[in-house]
Amino acid sequence: MILNLDDSFTKELEADPIMENSRRLVRDAHFSYVMPRKTSDPKLIHVSPEMLEPLGISGKQIGTTDFLNLVTGNQNLPGFNPYAMVYAGHQFGNWASQLGDGRAINIAEVLHDQKRWILQLKGAGETPYSRSADGLAVLRSSIREYLCSEAMYHLGVPTTRALSLALTGDQVLRDVMYDGNAAYEKGAIVCRVAPSFLRFGNYQWFASQNKIKELKQLTDYTIKYFFDEVPQLHDNIYLNFFQKVCDLTREMITHWQRVGFVHGVMNTDNMSILGLTIDYGPYGWLDDFNPNWTPNTTDRTHKRYRYINQPNIALWNLYQLANALVPLINETEGFESILNTYPDQFKTSYQNMMRKKLGLINEGDTDDKLIGELVENLQMIETDMTIFFRELAKLSKNDVISTTELVKFSFYNEQELNKIQTDKWLDWFQRYKERLQNEVITDEERAFNMNLVNPKYVLRNYMAQMAIDEADSGNFDLIDELFQLLKNPYKEQLDNEKWYAKRPEWARDKIGCSMLSCSS
Ligand code: AMP
Ligand code: MG
Repeated sequence: MILNLDDSFTKELEADPIMENSRRLVRDAHFSYVMPRKTSDPKLIHVSPEMLEPLGISGKQIGTTDFLNLVTGNQNLPGFNPYAMVYAGHQFGNWASQLGDGRAINIAEVLHDQKRWILQLKGAGETPYSRSADGLAVLRSSIREYLCSEAMYHLGVPTTRALSLALTGDQVLRDVMYDGNAAYEKGAIVCRVAPSFLRFGNYQWFASQNKIKELKQLTDYTIKYFFDEVPQLHDNIYLNFFQKVCDLTREMITHWQRVGFVHGVMNTDNMSILGLTIDYGPYGWLDDFNPNWTPNTTDRTHKRYRYINQPNIALWNLYQLANALVPLINETEGFESILNTYPDQFKTSYQNMMRKKLGLINEGDTDDKLIGELVENLQMIETDMTIFFRELAKLSKNDVISTTELVKFSFYNEQELNKIQTDKWLDWFQRYKERLQNEVITDEERAFNMNLVNPKYVLRNYMAQMAIDEADSGNFDLIDELFQLLKNPYKEQLDNEKWYAKRPEWARDKIGCSMLSCSS
């Protein structure tokens, strides 16, 4: 394998001196060297062609044994020592202390076309941070991460990427619903890729141990490699850095709300310092627009990470990051003032995003109200978020609308709509049409613009589950079909009309479709 290795992380930061792969607390170092575990019968299931070029990998290399061995951890790159990072985090609002890369091993840092990429194997075996778990990943969750991270990329949502999905040939024991019914599943490894996999939790760990030297080293490293060109809005480099992290996080969450993505586990250890969607676990997509929905059964009672709460949680997490960074400048005011502007800035991002979803270019005085009522109306009866916005693009501003026919396809059961609710929709359409009179663009132009931000195809939970069920019986065709489909989420794909459909009834309460656990 020819890759242009350029190792900045292990060169600039502190290595744990202990080389043995035993579970331990690591207080004075940023990472531990650890080898991926050998897999018994590795098989490549899928490779993302769009990820090859940025890494400088030629298409010819992917069929080679070297490639297979690299992305399954069976062979290291000469000159690169694999490692796992230490981090901590708040899980579901509670301090969890040391966590770390328990089943992720960084196997390369590549510099290509002046861009830096880390290749990380998820599920490649135990590390010093595996705590009581096995360091492995199962096929089901690996398919979900592989398909969704590349789909998010094509949707224009900041995300970590995926290079490959492979079977290990090993069996992994999992209790999917934590109900005592453990069973063996196929082991798999995703080779995921990002400029950096640093999380809020990496900084939190050193702050929590009062290890200011290590905290400063890590933050200085991060700024040097990833934040050196940020706007100098404050008189302190750490505040400029923090401001940028807030901005990136806000942008990421705005995208999630736009496409109807629910992360499911927004713990601070799952928040990328680069504002990338990271750690695809029990995530889900809104089918019917239910702002209080979360796919994660572990969060069923409090629904901390439900769709509507994602912006608030992002802010809560940013507070934790700020707390971790405070020792670097020994004052809190600068951080507080940045955090205080976040709610208004998020509101502006959200309104602008919703305006785009509605095809509005100018700002109007009544837009807040129009958007607020739309969000309410979407909840009156089960209404499919993705389909609704695609159908809405077909509206002509001079049409007389006397029924809900236009968006009928987005209703799960149109019969449920009573007279009052129908009138609410008609009233809303009327005001939307009036609002459109203030825009200069034609209906066609507006539809074109709307279809650039309202996807036609997303990785609905049941679709991923279908691919998983087929893959479990050895057929990987659907993985490729969905992968190809989701490369062009905004385009009309006539051959793929079957995927422009509401969640089927069988998937309503099925495990894997609407109910997911952290077990993966
Ligand atoms: P997650 O809920 O996937 O974000 O993981 C939280 C923490 O648990 C991280 O430190 C993970 O590395 C660790 N973890 C999750 N699953 C495993 C596993 N199978 N083996 C070892 N560590 C794990
Ligand atoms: Mg995680």
